[in-house]
Amino acid sequence: MNTITPNGYKVTGIRGQILTFKADPFICEPSQCYEYIEDGLIIVRDGKIVDVGPYTSIRADYYMLEDKDIDVYDGADSLIMPGFVDCHMHYVQLPMVGSYGDALLDWLNRYTFPAECMFVNDEFAEEVAQIAMKQMLEHGTTTANIFATTYPGSVDAIFSESERYNTRMIAGKVLQDCNVPEALADKSAEESVAMSEQLLKKWHNRGRQLYAVIPRFAPTSTPEQLKLAGELYQRYIDHGVYAHTHLCENVNEIAWVSELYPESKSYLDVYDKYGLVDHHSVFAHCAIMGEDDWQRLHQAGSSVAHSPSSNLFLGSGQFKYWEAKDKKRPVFTGIATDIGAGTNYSIIRQLGDAYKVAMINTHPIDALKSFYLATRGGAEVLHLADKIGSIAPGYEADIAVLDFKATEYQGWRLAFSDDIIEKLFVIMTLGLDNTNRATYVAGHKVYDRYRDKQFVYPTWS
Ligand SMILES: [Zn+2]
Repeated sequence: MNTITPNGYKVTGIRGQILTFKADPFICEPSQCYEYIEDGLIIVRDGKIVDVGPYTSIRADYYMLEDKDIDVYDGADSLIMPGFVDCHMHYVQLPMVGSYGDALLDWLNRYTFPAECMFVNDEFAEEVAQIAMKQMLEHGTTTANIFATTYPGSVDAIFSESERYNTRMIAGKVLQDCNVPEALADKSAEESVAMSEQLLKKWHNRGRQLYAVIPRFAPTSTPEQLKLAGELYQRYIDHGVYAHTHLCENVNEIAWVSELYPESKSYLDVYDKYGLVDHHSVFAHCAIMGEDDWQRLHQAGSSVAHSPSSNLFLGSGQFKYWEAKDKKRPVFTGIATDIGAGTNYSIIRQLGDAYKVAMINTHPIDALKSFYLATRGGAEVLHLADKIGSIAPGYEADIAVLDFKATEYQGWRLAFSDDIIEKLFVIMTLGLDNTNRATYVAGHKVYDRYRDKQFVYPTWS
């Protein structure tokens, strides 16, 4: 083999203890759903994984590869996993994470809307986009489904920064033409959806970037805006464009929607009426849902984003994963930070919170299922499970490397765990902020906690 490919990329390797998922442990026999390699080697070429397997056999096949082109992680200290997928977050809420004291609707008025108004300034948007991307990469998140805000500059800022790292991100302009402060409100339904379409044409499938049509939630769009948003989504759904919104987060929100739309059977039905419930739709929260709604989401092939730290922080509903993942009619389910109601960028910390939310209802969720939701499950939510979320030939080489010895205590504690699954449960429960030590995006190590310059944009050899 030649280690320089015809288009100038080098072949590289990543060696260490590897864990990845190949099927859904909520549906299949859990022991058959994952692949664990104690000492493995991943071969990367042109940003994609071309080979993976036990080190000894793969190394023999790639004997031309020089040792200096292989990053080595000691299996006693590290675990190589697919990069994490955050199925719902608002990068524009980064300035107000950790704001005290209100439930959803008051919290939006008191903290969120004033924060989002600051994004009228493009330079501010660019600064926050840089910080948000760093926060995600530092925590091993390589794909996120992101709300910007009303202003097109807020969309350009996050896509531009994602493009610099070559991450696969989904984002879009937030559509909101009523019940928000005037400075944040779209001037008209027509103009806002036309602006969204312009941004879609600019960014969708540009490199790894993907676009979502984003009505904030039913109460902040007029029926006319929801209608036009649904039409825009339907025009581009076959090109892989998404719809992304909130659904059934909090009792007062649900009551408000039923006041605004008394003729609708349910909150979901409002979106359904406007063509927003389909196979590329992602609904954040879904914490208080009826069986009819779950049936409809299953039938449509829509997805839900469980945001446990956000739900706890705002005192919202409690997500019931056993309903969402009911084998009779499973709904694609992923994990989300929901920054800024969520309290941390770490998907691993969300898993610890998801466990506690489930245990309030005495439904424990084990480590295998949890880390599946964080990786392959998230990719399935976004219908990208043929591209990201797994470590296998043909997949984009987005990888997180966990650090067992992130702290002296964690290293010591893990010594009492017998196998990798037990270790993962301890890791998600301890929820340390620095559990991720390195992040690869399309094969480039863009973050390394132990490197002098922790974050670097990829350079093409
Ligand atoms: Zn949200």
